Amino acid sequence: MGEIWIPEAERLGGGIIGGAMDTPNAPPRVVWHTTESGAGDSSFKNVGAFLSSAASEPHILYDPTTDRLGQYGPLNQSARALRNAGSVRTNRTGRVCIQIEVLARAGTPFTGYWKPGRNFRALLRAIRSWDTPDDWPAGRLAQSYSDDSPRSLTIWQTRGGHYGHSNVPGNDHWDPGAIDRVALLAAGAAPTQPPKPAPPTTPVPAPRYRRPRAYRAIGL
Ligand SMILES: [Zn+2]
Repeated sequence: MGEIWIPEAERLGGGIIGGAMDTPNAPPRVVWHTTESGAGDSSFKNVGAFLSSAASEPHILYDPTTDRLGQYGPLNQSARALRNAGSVRTNRTGRVCIQIEVLARAGTPFTGYWKPGRNFRALLRAIRSWDTPDDWPAGRLAQSYSDDSPRSLTIWQTRGGHYGHSNVPGNDHWDPGAIDRVALLAAGAAPTQPPKPAPPTTPVPAPRYRRPRAYRAIGL
């Protein structure tokens, strides 16, 4: 069982946003969004409240400039930031479908200026606790509003990992923009540990003197 509430996250809203997943046997996934807003505490408050009032909450609200992390609902239930793909309820696809709204704009990829810290690492720890692969199965993210990024329904239904909103079938948004997919997942690595002291070295035995064969032969 993975993490349902991230201890490091502050609670947002009433704690209930969606419901049970439709396909809990499908692989776990994450969807990255951007709020198309500024960042900072006033945006966190105002945009955070707007997402609730619009009934389009993600699970997570994240500020890439302050490392502030909020959570609206349990990770093992659905969020509401995606549109359906026909009869497929994209919000409810997978063991988990963890949706993250980053306070940023798709046109200025947040991995270019962000300051991920302890809370971002906690977020990726929670994502990985559901066995979500460190992979981007749909491939590239949209580079611009008019970029026709891959949105395969088959991949969505059968592959776990990380998706941009621009990779979800049935949806037409291009967020989170051209973020650095490798840097995003690398930021979840454990903080650099101080180097460990070198292990004690096994004393190398001094080479034993061995008398040349000629000496032994003559009994010296
Ligand atoms: Zn989005």
